[in-house]
Amino acid sequence: MAGWEMDRRDMSMNCASGNRIVTPKRIALYGGTFDPLHLGHLLVARAAMEEMQLEKVYFIPTAQSPFKPDQLPTPPQTRLQMLRIGLAGNPDYEVDEQEIERGGISYTIDTVRDYQKRFGESHLSFVIGADHVPSLPKWRDAGELASSLHFIVIPRPGENDVVFPTGYKGVVLRGFPLGVSSSQIRQRVRDKLTVRHLVPNAVEQAIVYNGLYL
Ligand code: ATP
Repeated sequence: MAGWEMDRRDMSMNCASGNRIVTPKRIALYGGTFDPLHLGHLLVARAAMEEMQLEKVYFIPTAQSPFKPDQLPTPPQTRLQMLRIGLAGNPDYEVDEQEIERGGISYTIDTVRDYQKRFGESHLSFVIGADHVPSLPKWRDAGELASSLHFIVIPRPGENDVVFPTGYKGVVLRGFPLGVSSSQIRQRVRDKLTVRHLVPNAVEQAIVYNGLYL
């Protein structure tokens, strides 16, 4: 059974005194380039799950970020492979390929509309690192995003005093602040330094096997 079908089944109606009550789901979308997935990403998702009592976090890799137009990411299928093996065996997380399937520049609003159709709007959250908060008003259809989403912000070392732009709602979590980034991982590989303990073991193996970031 496909993941989405399972989710639809989970959302099945409860019958109480003849009334149909929709069981709300607490889910969060977590978008990123994930080039590659690293332990900072995993701790972001873990903090969101625990502090927000979420049922699931959907990792949604972008095809091409509108904010990194000059940066050609690693081919999508390779990033997907690393994401899948890095998250394997953890039922709290799911990988959603829709932005990669759409291709081109990925706009969060398209993905959010898709989730709204399937899950309703009530408990839809979007997870971002603190570094992305100031840019929120520049996202496509920012007004619609602000009004329909609850943002879960995870602290990131070097980003102090998170202030939500006007009109945005959300929370800043305690998290497990960790100063690891994908660009640092790529740089370390170029510099022939180990990335062990900074990415999941399987991701480290995939980087070596595929000769990435050299
Ligand atoms: P790059 O270094 O290439 O810019 P990145 O490490 O920021 O990449 P992305 O995949 O672009 O990784 O990030 C996806 C999301 O995860 C963003 O919202 C980003 O702020 C957040 N994020 C990434 N790493 C961390 C971290 N160590 N702590 C908190 N948030 C993080």
